Amino acid sequence: MKLRIKILLSSLLIVAVSLGFFAWFILRQQRDSLLADMQIQGSIHARIISRSVFNSLLMNGGDPEAAKIDTSDSIKMMKPLEKKGLVSVVSALNAASFKGFVLAEYASEQYADQAAHPGQRYIAEDLLNSWLKTGESQVACGTDELCHRFTEVFEYKGKPVIVTAVTLSRRPMEDAIRRTKHGIYFFLGIAVVLSFLVSWFLSSALSRNFAKLTRAVRLFERRPDENVELAIRSKDEAGELAATFEHMAEVISRQVKELKEMDRLKDQLLANTTHELKTPLNGIIGLSSAMKSALAAGEYPSAESLDLIHYSARRLNRMVDGLLDMSKIRHKDMSLEKAEFPLSLLCLRAASLLRPLAVQKGIELRTFVEHGVYVTGDPEKLEQVIINLVSNAVKFTSEGFVSLNLEIRENTAILRVTDTGIGIPEAEHEKIFESFYQVSGEASRAYEGTGLGLAVTKSIVEGHGGTICVESETEEGSTFTVKLPNAKMDKGAQNPDFFETWEARESAVLPNPQAPVAEEGISPVPPVDSSGIHGTILVVDDDPINLRAVTANLKQAGHHTVTAESAFAAKQLMESGAVKPDLVLLDVMMPKLNGFEFTKILRESKSLYELPILLLTAKIRSSDIVKGLSAGANDYITKPFESSELFARIKTHLMLKKAVEDHHTLNSIRSELEMAKKIQNSVLPPFSVKTSGAVLEALYIASAEVGGDFFDYHIGQNGAVGVLIADVSGHGIASALISSMTKVAFSVAADHLDQPATILRSLNQILQDKLDGHFITAQYIYIDPAARKIISARAGHNPSLLFSRSRQSVMELNPRGPAIGFFPDPIFVMEEHGYEIGDRLLLYTDGITETSNAQGELFSEVRLTKLLTDGAADPKEFLATMLDSVERFRGVPSGENKSPDDDLTAVVIDLL
Ligand code: ADP
Repeated sequence: MKLRIKILLSSLLIVAVSLGFFAWFILRQQRDSLLADMQIQGSIHARIISRSVFNSLLMNGGDPEAAKIDTSDSIKMMKPLEKKGLVSVVSALNAASFKGFVLAEYASEQYADQAAHPGQRYIAEDLLNSWLKTGESQVACGTDELCHRFTEVFEYKGKPVIVTAVTLSRRPMEDAIRRTKHGIYFFLGIAVVLSFLVSWFLSSALSRNFAKLTRAVRLFERRPDENVELAIRSKDEAGELAATFEHMAEVISRQVKELKEMDRLKDQLLANTTHELKTPLNGIIGLSSAMKSALAAGEYPSAESLDLIHYSARRLNRMVDGLLDMSKIRHKDMSLEKAEFPLSLLCLRAASLLRPLAVQKGIELRTFVEHGVYVTGDPEKLEQVIINLVSNAVKFTSEGFVSLNLEIRENTAILRVTDTGIGIPEAEHEKIFESFYQVSGEASRAYEGTGLGLAVTKSIVEGHGGTICVESETEEGSTFTVKLPNAKMDKGAQNPDFFETWEARESAVLPNPQAPVAEEGISPVPPVDSSGIHGTILVVDDDPINLRAVTANLKQAGHHTVTAESAFAAKQLMESGAVKPDLVLLDVMMPKLNGFEFTKILRESKSLYELPILLLTAKIRSSDIVKGLSAGANDYITKPFESSELFARIKTHLMLKKAVEDHHTLNSIRSELEMAKKIQNSVLPPFSVKTSGAVLEALYIASAEVGGDFFDYHIGQNGAVGVLIADVSGHGIASALISSMTKVAFSVAADHLDQPATILRSLNQILQDKLDGHFITAQYIYIDPAARKIISARAGHNPSLLFSRSRQSVMELNPRGPAIGFFPDPIFVMEEHGYEIGDRLLLYTDGITETSNAQGELFSEVRLTKLLTDGAADPKEFLATMLDSVERFRGVPSGENKSPDDDLTAVVIDLL
């Protein structure tokens, strides 16, 4: 029941009950007092009349007739009592000879007919006898009226001489009570109405506040990071509650925001660090595999490649050190090994270390270092500070200069790193010193980094009792100033001995990654790929080591490569017509123009098939991959990659390109189908696989026209498997291409292996605008052997079948969901089922159930179910029997080959 109704009902009940009792009490009081009044009136008048009648009798010498004349006059004085309900007054003699003689009598006009003894000289003896006792009795007067009779017996010398009866009606009393009742009813009505109005008003105010509070709580539940304004300003408890809630919501939303920010930072750190770590790793893997191929081909691997590997490994080491430092800072246990050392020399050393980096970017690195500045501190950590600041300056500057200044003022060493780079917006000046913080915006995000450098730098500087600050303007440049206390000048101690041990440690020479690719020491070797599909590949990467690693590998595979160190350079190369690549391998994170943007530009003039674009990315977040695919990339490869994987992907895309070109030039259906078959075969995974939880066997027979059937799976942890079966509408090359996109989309979604609905939604999201009128039916099943359950979701596909060996029954897995490509944001229902060891799961496409025989009958689920129940124990054998019965049903004699009308695909999974 609503609060308002409750308040209304209870207040009405309270008013009605309390006023009811009050009315009852008042009426009772009134009745009692009126009755008492009547009794007093009746008995006093009876007594007075008796006495005055007796006096008249005495005065008239005991003559009743004479006395009656006197009394008749005086008794008329009773008239005013009529208002009080006087019905009659009778006074009679009780003397022997005059027994019952009426001495005085009065009857009110209204009750003339009810007088006890109207107009008689004598009262009947029995009536008189009944009055012979002083007291009160109730008598009926009229039909519905009650009267009270008061009798008085006047005694003379111990004998009752005169009997008087005064009769009073109750009507005046009852009239008065009725009037009181009416008055009470009237006031009761008013009180009820008033209390209704008041409680309505109060309850409305209360429930309005509650409604506001409920709405706010619901809203807050949905969006806990937004501020809540309740607009309840009353000073009562509701106002207090609202204020408390607002305060609580504010605290929670602040915490939610902080948590979200931390979560975002954590994701960012993960993405950044993996990217940062993967870049040198990629170099190491790529270069070492090129060296391996060279060795295999009897060549000497180049020493420069070894240098590059060494350089990459050191870069990796530095990053891991940075992460370790960060973790130490977080746990506040970074130890500083302090010594007095020449900061001036340290600056020069750092500058010489980083100069090649600046030269490589065409930037001048200027140094203005005052000689002989000594500080007490940890030289290794302070070198890290200088390297962080100078390498940031070089990183974020594309033209102009970077300068490193050192001077001493009043025992404080002042170190300044100035650049003419992209600058930092004022609002971010404080934040860049926070862990993992990176200035947002494309300009800055095109550069690699973890967002850790400045946080580590600041902690080190503060650990030395110093300060760090930044002055910067966007597009103008930045100046970072570090002030270190307790510095001193010691011109005499310019001996660089201090760094001798360091020099030994850091002796590894930085190789020059700038050296042109053509000079690389890897000699051309015969192509390892004998498919004959080679092409010119444009490789775009701003990391020279990566560039070197990729091209070395591609050359080994027999491709012709052209390189560009930025998307801009690649754009110019292509616009000038100097290069006409068959395929572009594109790094995603590059300054100024990143991989996504360059893909979009390329797609303005070249279609997906004219120029395949493969993104090389160390980012493994699916949102980045989706972004790349929607920018127009054909595929992506995550760094570090295996050369075999890179070759396979390149081959597929070159093949597709060739297919489309052949199709355009020859317009030959046969070649299209050939191609479609090749594509289809290239996207299907191995047909048998075994994990600790499942054995999977697949069957795929392409129809004459290739029907676009597709299956794929990913193996999860602890033997879990996620299997996708799909059927693309239509036939031929278009369907085959969609199958290949489905494969890419499925691998993007593989993060959510245990969430079938999310997998299908993500397929829908990625493929939706690429289907070009086609659609895909699919079912995805996740098998979780640890929990012994399967979870499935379906997109308009034939329901898969689950055979329970112990019950010898077959169940359909048919959760609801529309085919992929119909709706922008479809809902896929998920179903969960338990299973027992030995149960069998069958995923299939409609090619099987819709196979028809000469009579036009369909093979149908019924036969499939029967096959499952009677099926062989071995999954391979089961598939062979199934194929055989489908073929026989179709009327193809066993052993003969006649391609089916639609692709036949089945995946059988035995659950272990
Ligand atoms: P990162 O590894 O991302 O460079 P840092 O902590 O060193 O991390 O820097 C944090 C952020 O501060 C950088 O991502 C960049 O946005 C900004 N930044 C640092 N130095 C400079 C600079 N010299 N010019 C412009 N922006 C800079």
